[in-house]
Amino acid sequence: MIERKSILVTGGAGFLGSYLCERLLDQGHEVLCLDNFYTGQKANIEHLLGHPRFELKRHDICFPLYVEVDEIYNLACPASPVHYQKDPVQTTKTSVIGAINMLGLAKRVGAKILQASTSEVYGDPEIHPQPESYWGNVNTTGIRSCYDEGKRCAETLFYDYQRQNNVNIRVMRIFNTYGPRMHPNDGRVVSNFIMQALQGQDITVYGDGGQTRSFCFRDDLVEGMIRLMNAPDETTMPINIGNPNEFTILQLAEYVIELTGSSSKIVFETLPQDDPMQRQPIIDLAKKHLNWEPKVELKEGLAKTISYFDQLLGQNEPDEKV
Ligand code: NAD
Ligand code: UDP
Ligand code: UDP
Repeated sequence: MIERKSILVTGGAGFLGSYLCERLLDQGHEVLCLDNFYTGQKANIEHLLGHPRFELKRHDICFPLYVEVDEIYNLACPASPVHYQKDPVQTTKTSVIGAINMLGLAKRVGAKILQASTSEVYGDPEIHPQPESYWGNVNTTGIRSCYDEGKRCAETLFYDYQRQNNVNIRVMRIFNTYGPRMHPNDGRVVSNFIMQALQGQDITVYGDGGQTRSFCFRDDLVEGMIRLMNAPDETTMPINIGNPNEFTILQLAEYVIELTGSSSKIVFETLPQDDPMQRQPIIDLAKKHLNWEPKVELKEGLAKTISYFDQLLGQNEPDEKV
């Protein structure tokens, strides 16, 4: 039996947050799910609404929040480039002002707080693969900057609240993650390719498809997140969580076509500005401090994700846009 804690999950109606809420409830905790529904969906948490230890609160973390909790997982922030570039000022506010509010809350109530940071802090990396010690190569003025610099500043705030106010922090640098409950119109590569393949539309590869990403399945990622939160108190350094198996975007397109049996053709479109050319985590710290490494291979995770989107299409879900 583990001790029952009261846990706040910001961004709890999102892709990763909703699955995290579920896992924490399964472990016997009380979960307060907070979301402004910017990219999150009610459907992701509907099945939890009647649960006696689950509470949902509509709230924007750019505004102060007064609750009593033991732990905070700070996930609130749009994650897909299409979404975070739609209102870039709001994206930076969510990362920066949101982090200040959640850290202020953690400080007041003495809660432990985990930040969902990102591989984007490395920008378009000049070092490959990326260790946590790499400081990154980030444009301050481009279309991705609102997200990258917002997340970098949030990390800075976490370390300053630790030094200045003794807040108990965890910082997780998440690499590309996919799986069931991704928003079908999310604009990210995995959801785009699967939706296109299932609907017989062209698969849109940006650039020549030679750029790489390392894709982590949702369940592996959330396991790493929970382990980091529960790791010993000295585990406050940034930790990469991701799957080190690296693929080109063209390879991903071919896998999706193969696994869906689709007749879709691959088409090539313009590569967006500042699109990182390669990305692969070094996960030695996660292995050492969390005894964590991913278990799900790309094809296995893709098959599960395809089956989720297939079901969604079968139900003729409304074409929800943000
Ligand atoms: P998501 O867009 O599905 O979830 C984000 C959630 O935050 C949504 O439910 C959204 O409505 C909510 N939100 C946004 N702004 C908010 C605000 N101001 N106040 C309250 N709620 C707000 O994205 P996700 O993939 O689940 O990502 C979760 C977290 O993990 C994000 O912080 C993201 O930056 C980080 N991350 C994700 C990935 C990935 O590949 N999925 C990679 C790196 C980092
Ligand atoms: N805050 C909050 N909930 C709390 C405590 C603080 O939302 O329980 C917010 C509050 O808006 C504040 C911010 O967190 O502006 C930072 O708090 P901190 O105590 O660090 O700074 P200060 O209150 O001095 O601005
Ligand atoms: N991408 C693509 N086709 C799409 C969507 C994305 O080729 O329909 C590419 C994108 O240019 C990038 C990679 O896939 O090189 C990953 O994009 P995503 O938006 O999923 O995440 P990122 O890692 O760029 O934040």
